[in-house]
Amino acid sequence: MATLVELIAKKRDGGTHEPGQIKRLIDALVAGELADYQMSAWLMAAFLRGLDARETLELTDAMLASGVVLDLGEIPGVKVDKHSTGGVGDKVSLSLAPIVAACGVPVPMVSGRGLGHTGGTLDKLESIPGFRVDLPIEDFRRIVRDLGTCLIGQTKEIAPADKRIYALRDVTATVESIPLITASILSKKLAEGIDALVLDVKVGRGAFMKDLDRARALARSLVDVASRGGKGVTALLTDMDHPLGLTIGNALEMIEAIDVLHGRGPADMVELTLELAAEMLVLGKVVTDVEAGRVRARASIADGSAAEVLRKLIVAQHGDPRVVDDTSLFAKAPVVRTITAPRAGFVVDVDPLALGYAGVELGAGRTRADQAVDHAVGLVLHAAKGTRVAAGDPLVDVHARDVAAFERVSARVSGAFRIGDEQVARGPLVFEALRGQAR
Ligand code: URA
Repeated sequence: MATLVELIAKKRDGGTHEPGQIKRLIDALVAGELADYQMSAWLMAAFLRGLDARETLELTDAMLASGVVLDLGEIPGVKVDKHSTGGVGDKVSLSLAPIVAACGVPVPMVSGRGLGHTGGTLDKLESIPGFRVDLPIEDFRRIVRDLGTCLIGQTKEIAPADKRIYALRDVTATVESIPLITASILSKKLAEGIDALVLDVKVGRGAFMKDLDRARALARSLVDVASRGGKGVTALLTDMDHPLGLTIGNALEMIEAIDVLHGRGPADMVELTLELAAEMLVLGKVVTDVEAGRVRARASIADGSAAEVLRKLIVAQHGDPRVVDDTSLFAKAPVVRTITAPRAGFVVDVDPLALGYAGVELGAGRTRADQAVDHAVGLVLHAAKGTRVAAGDPLVDVHARDVAAFERVSARVSGAFRIGDEQVARGPLVFEALRGQAR
């Protein structure tokens, strides 16, 4: 049998691992028989040489098997979750999970925290006073059964190999690899005990994947591996070359998600939420096509049932449900300053990456995994791409902890907006859909 060093050399030299070899590497890592520096060497080899579809599936399975896989079999219905590859202003999960649950499809959701310029669902939820995301697995199971959804953080039992490997990738320049991203995302998601998954693969300056070809390759890889793993799966390629919605920052984004549930969210947020909900309802087998899914999802907003799921979910997760009807209960930033248009014209570009980093600098996000976030701070856009503005019209409100924090970000925030003479419409929000067949 080849030694672990021979396996590293095999990938270094561009070879394809035989069945079982990748599992040996992952098992050895978890057992303490493969050192972090050896794993890092293999990760760089895999980054440079690539993994084929079978190797990617074996890596995913081995990482999944490093921890527990929840059994939600006792909960009736097809369990469906959604994962976004991350963007700026992407608060869709917060309104999507209650909508889909209100339509009768259980949504067990294990979410992440923000890192880099992208926000995280858990940080946004924790802006609700008292809300807890660190529930025991038994509570998670009970809440999904009783309410149709529950949103928690990755526990130490879920895909521990991913936690180790992700930390190594983060510091060895091996994050941006399609097979490694695929295995990382799916090992965590498949541990939730789901039957199907909708993936929101973001494309553009505010996303991991900056161009459509790379995003399409990631979507194909995710759909292929999830299908081979026996799951129903759909990936939507969606625009992240512009911030999503009008808010960036934890409490501000939570308020916007609540607005969606009350039928008054910004058009792009509503559209993307309904598109993803429709795909989840099709996979959840409560409708037969996406148009019926959109209608059903819209009805759950109009009749108040989705907002009611959120109220109950907040109670079950120890938060204050009054925020759903009184958003003044969220923490507020002490300083709110408006940045205005320097000239008349049309907003021709809003750079999501610049605004994402400005949010981090204000304290809404983190630059190290162990940092705390400030729930109150962030940005509220008054203008998006295509908006006509007069000189002096508000472009964006900056919610800051103090005046110095505002001053630190103001050039970056105003520089994110470009004003021109010709109106340029925003392109489509959803570029394409890839649908898999469970195998
Ligand atoms: N998200 C993950 O969970 N893993 C990756 O590798 C990239 C994004």
